[in-house]
Amino acid sequence: MKRVAVLGGGPAGAFAAERLASAGLETILLDSKLAWEKPCGGGLTCKAYEKYPFLIDNDRPKRLVTVTQMAAPGAGAARMNLRKPLVIYSRYELNRMLLARAEAAGAEIEQTRVMGMERVNSHWRLATRSGAVETDFCIVATGARNPLREVGTRLTADDTMLALGYYVPEDQDHVDIQFLPQLEGYIWVFPRCGHLSVGICGKGEPAQKLRARLEAFMRERGISWKNGTFYSHVLPSLATRAWKSNRVAGQGWLAVGDAGGLVDPITGEGLYYAIRSGDLASQVLLSDEHSPDGKAQAYRALLHRDFAANLEFGAALARRLFRGTLLWAGVPQRMVQIMRRSPRFNELMQDLFAGTQGYLGLKDRLLRNLHGTMFETAVNFLLSRLVPGEI
Ligand SMILES: Cc1cc2nc3c(=O)[nH]c(=O)nc-3n(C[C@H](O)[C@H](O)[C@H](O)COP(=O)(O)OP(=O)(O)OC[C@H]3O[C@@H](n4cnc5c(N)ncnc54)[C@H](O)[C@@H]3O)c2cc1C
Repeated sequence: MKRVAVLGGGPAGAFAAERLASAGLETILLDSKLAWEKPCGGGLTCKAYEKYPFLIDNDRPKRLVTVTQMAAPGAGAARMNLRKPLVIYSRYELNRMLLARAEAAGAEIEQTRVMGMERVNSHWRLATRSGAVETDFCIVATGARNPLREVGTRLTADDTMLALGYYVPEDQDHVDIQFLPQLEGYIWVFPRCGHLSVGICGKGEPAQKLRARLEAFMRERGISWKNGTFYSHVLPSLATRAWKSNRVAGQGWLAVGDAGGLVDPITGEGLYYAIRSGDLASQVLLSDEHSPDGKAQAYRALLHRDFAANLEFGAALARRLFRGTLLWAGVPQRMVQIMRRSPRFNELMQDLFAGTQGYLGLKDRLLRNLHGTMFETAVNFLLSRLVPGEI
C-alpha cells in the first residue's frame, strides 16, 4: 500500500492520520472545515486520557471537573465526587490539537470537501472540491452526517439520537446530568473555558420537543440562552440489530468514529471511540498479517473485541435504563435515590459514567454488591428518618 486518504479530520480521522503518517505511510487528510466548533459537550473521560495521556498532558485550554450532580424527576440530585476528573475541551481546541499532531507526524492536510468516490481497479479516485485525488485505501471519518453513500454506517432514525443545545457565556464548577420523564436521553451542563455547553440528547423525539424540554430546564435553573449560540447535530446510537449488521468496513475502506456508528448508545460518549477506532483502523492497515482483502474482516473482529461488543450490549440496556421501572418508580429516579444512600452504588455509577465499568460486566458487579448496596441504602434511609437533612 502506497497512499492512504483519510476522509474527515475530526478526532477519528486526525488520530488515524497521525498514526499512519508516523509509521511512514503516505497519508493525506481531507476535511472541508478542519478545526471547527463541532456541536459537542467536549467531555473526555479518564478512560480516554489514561489510554492516550496526551489528551490531558498538554497546554491547550481545557477544564478539569471533579464534581458531577445527577438528577432525576422525583428524586432530587445525587453528587459524585469523581476520583479522576472529566476533561472538557471546546471542540475547536481539541480538533486543532489533533490535526496539529497529524501534521507534525507527516500527514498532508488539505482543506477540501470530498464530493464522491469511485473504485477503479484496486484503488480509489476521489472527487473533491479542489480536484481528483488517487489513493490505494480510504479511512472514512466523515462523522454522523457522512454524505458518502457507498461507505460507512447506514444510520436509520432508530439508530440516532438528536442532540441540540446552547453555548452560553456563564460558568459553574460542576457537571450536571438531568434525566427527564419518558425520555431516552438526558440533559447535560458542561463547564468549558469561558462558557457552558448546555444540551439535550434524545431518541425518537422531534427537535422542537427536545428544545422545549431543554429551555424549560434552563429557565428553571436560571440559565439564560438569550446571549447563547444554538447548536444541533445527530448522534449515532445504534440499536442492537444495527450493531450486528453495521457497515463499518468494506473493500478498500475502514470507517472510524461516528461514520462507523461507534458511539456509546447510553451515555453518547463518542470522542474516546472515535480516537480508539482511528487507532485500531491504523493498526489493521499497517499490519502485514492481513491481505488487502482481509483488512475489513480483521478490523471488524478487532473492534468487536476491543469495545463494540460492550456497546452492542449497552444498546439492549438503553431503553430499560431511561424508560424502565424499578420498584414502582422510574429507573433513573431509583438510581439517583440509591446513589445518594449507597457509597458502593455511587462508585459504580461513577465508573459507568467514566466508562471504566463496561455494560457487559455490570450485572455481575451489581449482584456482587447487592447485599452491601441494600444494607447501605437501608441504613442511610433509616438515618435520614432519624436525623432529617443529614443525608
Ligand atoms: C451535541 C453533542 C454532544 C456530544 N458530547 C460529547 C461529549 O461530551 N463527549 C463525547 O465523548 N462525545 C460527545 N459527542 C459525540 C462526539 O461529538 C462524536 O462522537 C465525535 O465528534 C466523533 O468524531 P469523528 O471524528 O468521528 O466525527 P466528527 O467530529 O463529526 O468529524 C467529522 C469530520 O468530517 C468532516 N467531513 C464530513 N464530510 C466531509 C466531506 N464530504 N469531505 C471532507 N470532510 C468532511 C467534517 O468537517 C468533520 O470535521 C457529542 C455529540 C453531540 C452531537
